[in-house]
Amino acid sequence: MPVFGPVRSRRLGLSLGVDLVPPKICSMDCVYCEVGRTTRLTTERAEYRPLAEIEAALRQALAEKACDVITLTGSGEPTLNLRFPEVVRLVRQLSVKPIAVLTNSTTLAVPEVFEALSEVDYVLASLDAVRPEAFRRVNRPAPGISPGDLVDGLARLRRKMRGELWLEILLVKGLNDAEEDIRALREAVAHIGPHRVQLNTVVRPPAESWATPLDHGEMLALARELEAEVIAPSPVRSQAPGKALSEEEVLAYLARRPAPAEELSLAFGVAPEEVIRSLERLVEEGRLQQTTFEGRTFYRLKEEREAGSHSRAIRT
Ligand code: SF4
Repeated sequence: MPVFGPVRSRRLGLSLGVDLVPPKICSMDCVYCEVGRTTRLTTERAEYRPLAEIEAALRQALAEKACDVITLTGSGEPTLNLRFPEVVRLVRQLSVKPIAVLTNSTTLAVPEVFEALSEVDYVLASLDAVRPEAFRRVNRPAPGISPGDLVDGLARLRRKMRGELWLEILLVKGLNDAEEDIRALREAVAHIGPHRVQLNTVVRPPAESWATPLDHGEMLALARELEAEVIAPSPVRSQAPGKALSEEEVLAYLARRPAPAEELSLAFGVAPEEVIRSLERLVEEGRLQQTTFEGRTFYRLKEEREAGSHSRAIRT
């Protein structure tokens, strides 16, 4: 069915989805893709779903269902559907609801796609890597697609569009999360100037079983570097009563950057009160110091101490 939902979207509210491309036609073959491996890797645009079929399903759904937003998406890249610009116009005619489009940003050089995207309310665009090696590793694009073109297209779109550009960066452990990758992404984000930057990781079964997520602590730390919000759901990490947290783990974390107790609580899956008790004990012992920034209390290593020099377990 070309129309599904509405489904409760974390980002958009009650979203009626319009699927413009069947599985699995895409210009990329991302290792983390929750749809599975791309079976037709292409940049060719075609009427992968007939406009008449989309229109009939959309008219019926809008007559029967309420929603907050209409989201154009696909089991692949939706803008590869040749009729994408007409679908945007059709939705505008049929509904006053905002239009969102999920795209992998690879078709921005196509003038009619660019024009259509610049007319919608929300473009949720992906950009996972800027360095060519990392881009190839994570996104496995069709020939001829370069990350530089994606960045330039997104920057042009941001200047032209009437709605909002939300950039999603999905990080896969060991593939696009190196320091140089994050630095390149930060520069690209500054160049593009999106309204929001959202950081995600592998949270659903991926196309490749070896594509693994970053843990929540790493995500929070990188989100701060990229001035992004984390949209990956917080993992629920239950701890057996009395299980020890390695002091080394906490001190190593704080050696990289100061952090508030709530961040550590999320990172280690421990109740905030228990984390605070441990941190206060480390402060009393002279291993950590507190500092206040923007009204929040952060914990950091005492300058003369180094992470990794302690091994006693912290009980929480
Ligand atoms: S661009 Fe989207 S649909 Fe295509 S492979 Fe990547 S995650 Fe899957």
